[in-house]
Amino acid sequence: MKQMWKHNHVIDLSEFSLEDYISVLELANRFKSIPKSGSRKLPALQGRFVATLFFEPSTRTRSSFELAAKKLSADVQTFSPSSSSLSKGESPLDTALTYVAMGADILIVRHSSTGVPKQIANHLKMLGKQTSILNAGDGLHSHPSQALVDLFTLAKFFNPEEVNPSILKGKTIAIIGDVLHSRVARSNLWSLTACGANVVLCGPPSLVPEEFCEFTKTPPPGQLEDPIQHRGQISISRSLKEALNKSDAAITLRIQKERMAENLLSDLDTYHREFGINHKHLKFCSNRIPVLHPGPVNRGIEMSSEVLDDKEICLVDKQVSNGIPIRMALLYLIIAAK
Ligand code: ASP
Repeated sequence: MKQMWKHNHVIDLSEFSLEDYISVLELANRFKSIPKSGSRKLPALQGRFVATLFFEPSTRTRSSFELAAKKLSADVQTFSPSSSSLSKGESPLDTALTYVAMGADILIVRHSSTGVPKQIANHLKMLGKQTSILNAGDGLHSHPSQALVDLFTLAKFFNPEEVNPSILKGKTIAIIGDVLHSRVARSNLWSLTACGANVVLCGPPSLVPEEFCEFTKTPPPGQLEDPIQHRGQISISRSLKEALNKSDAAITLRIQKERMAENLLSDLDTYHREFGINHKHLKFCSNRIPVLHPGPVNRGIEMSSEVLDDKEICLVDKQVSNGIPIRMALLYLIIAAK
């Protein structure tokens, strides 16, 4: 396997080169081929300590990181905010430092505020600590492992025989719905355009502002350069029919009511009629494209129940099961680089 991986932390996919995507996807594909039940654990993370620090709720991401770490024989500790000293006023940084003092090799951090995983990583660097930070979702900023799951799921859909992110080159992927509040969409924009896919963002102006066309034009503040020379294009469409018609796959996003400060959507029925995916809307593209969603899905809003349960079209179950090998690959590469 190519050993070019040099990330001690994984915070934002804006820092990923094409080789990084290839390393993660190839390794995940190997882990995926190991039978799910009955197989013995791999010893790669034996004696390593992984802690999941989720200051915000999660079902899929936390469980799959924990399963992934256990499949690689790590010792895994789950921090639960409600029964911790967080309720006594301890800060997320001090909570993280507590686990570092216990010898954590990797902290997997989710927080509702943008930048918390990065702040912890910077602080650890200042202290000369080797503990790695894996961002499991921060505010509206970034959710790298979910975007890698989506990339892997799409790459396998387009070519089940061989997993290679370059298969996305020249394809058009629609991202539909609440882009404004989605850290998944932001990470998808970095990963999909890095692999040469063009992205069409689709939704009303209140959820898909025009500025998103410029999203990957410059690296985020603090990052000197973009490791990708030629990225795919980002465009915006206000019509679901137009977006589906020109796309090879569609990623729909949850309407994030908990993050909507203002009343950005007047009525969810109207939203579903205009931007929700149902079988009637899929006729716009002759039912020929797969539909993804990072979950949790609001049935009947982003997607009809019938589409969510239609395994021919909807890849949500595949995304969930791919979550484990992708997260095994991330944990493995981080530890191997130490
Ligand atoms: N689970 C994803 C996240 O944590 C998507 C969502 O919540 O809608 O960002």
